[in-house]
Amino acid sequence: MEFIKQELAQLREDNLFRRLRRIDGPQSAWTVMDGKRVLLLASNSYLGLTAHPALKAAAVAAVERYGTGTGGSRLTTGNFLLHEELETAIAGFKETEAAMVFNTGYMANLGVISALAGPEDAVFSDQFNHASIIDGCRLSRAKINVYRHKDLDHLRQLLREQQGARRKLIVTDGVFSMDGDITPLDRIVEIAAAQGALVMVDDAHATGVLGAQGGGTVQHFGLKGRVHIQMGTLSKALASEGGYVAGSREMIDYLRNKARSFVFSTSLPPADMAAAKAAVGIVLAEPARRGQLWDNVRYLRAGLTALGFTLLPGETPILPLMLGDAGLTMRMAEHLLAQGVFAPGIRPPTVPPGSSRIRITVMATHNRADLDVALAAFKNAGQAWGII
Ligand code: PMP
Repeated sequence: MEFIKQELAQLREDNLFRRLRRIDGPQSAWTVMDGKRVLLLASNSYLGLTAHPALKAAAVAAVERYGTGTGGSRLTTGNFLLHEELETAIAGFKETEAAMVFNTGYMANLGVISALAGPEDAVFSDQFNHASIIDGCRLSRAKINVYRHKDLDHLRQLLREQQGARRKLIVTDGVFSMDGDITPLDRIVEIAAAQGALVMVDDAHATGVLGAQGGGTVQHFGLKGRVHIQMGTLSKALASEGGYVAGSREMIDYLRNKARSFVFSTSLPPADMAAAKAAVGIVLAEPARRGQLWDNVRYLRAGLTALGFTLLPGETPILPLMLGDAGLTMRMAEHLLAQGVFAPGIRPPTVPPGSSRIRITVMATHNRADLDVALAAFKNAGQAWGII
């Protein structure tokens, strides 16, 4: 079809055409991509748990006991003991009364935001929030107020402008997925309390990473009981698949009835639930993994900065190496890959035009030698493309 041909040609011309790369190995420090062994600096499996023997054993045991699928949505035929055990584990981990799981984090954001806000309401969303939050806001048909990234004066101003809204919902990433910085959740909670607004935090990148027990952004800021909705995913540090929401018993009862992506979709398969539950146990029992992660983050950030690269400032395992131009970013990423290092180029529409970057993520399971391999490859690529 003509319009499809034209759109594809345009994407290629703008250096924005995307293709899939094939991985044939686990999300470990080293994996196999497009048939070649590569150092993985691209995974959100921050604690390196996807190939952990305990998670694999839990998944296998769940398949043996329950089979491969759940056969229906939870409210009809598909509610398993495993769902309830997993939800209890998440509520404990998140220090809330209750929790519920969705099939993905994306579906959690769609379901929760559209259940809490409608056409008479106002949502307030950070400019750099994840696409699934943006889509949840759109689906809600509420008045969407996008505030400048972490700009709380702008948030206050927009809240004032929407005084007449029936309900107000502030929603923010805890750790921003492409920038790696942390939202000022403590101050957002204060602003929300003064304005009678609900607060929802997306902890996809904070779960298992931030907080003394890895509980996420709420734990990091000591805000237990003061954030209405903690949403997250089981697919990153928890090394499985699925989304979750943690909050009060009342909130979870409400969402179980009102979140359409929960009500009308067949639930997570047994293997994924069992793996996620095992991961929560490991996060709680093995804090040393987070210590290793932070050591690695500090080492790589210091090394890249010493080489002369510009990284966005930040305190998380997401290290954005800023390049600006989409074409340069993709050439740099290709150069790194040719040297056996996979760190993906990120372009619009994932990030604003002119802010293309290499998004480096560090895992607890990288060792010093791995990170030195990375630094040598970045030095080589940075010099080849005149960046350092
Ligand atoms: N929120 C954020 C901040 C994310 O980064 C992601 C995943 N990229 C999601 C939500 C969606 O989670 P999932 O991958 O489980 O759909």
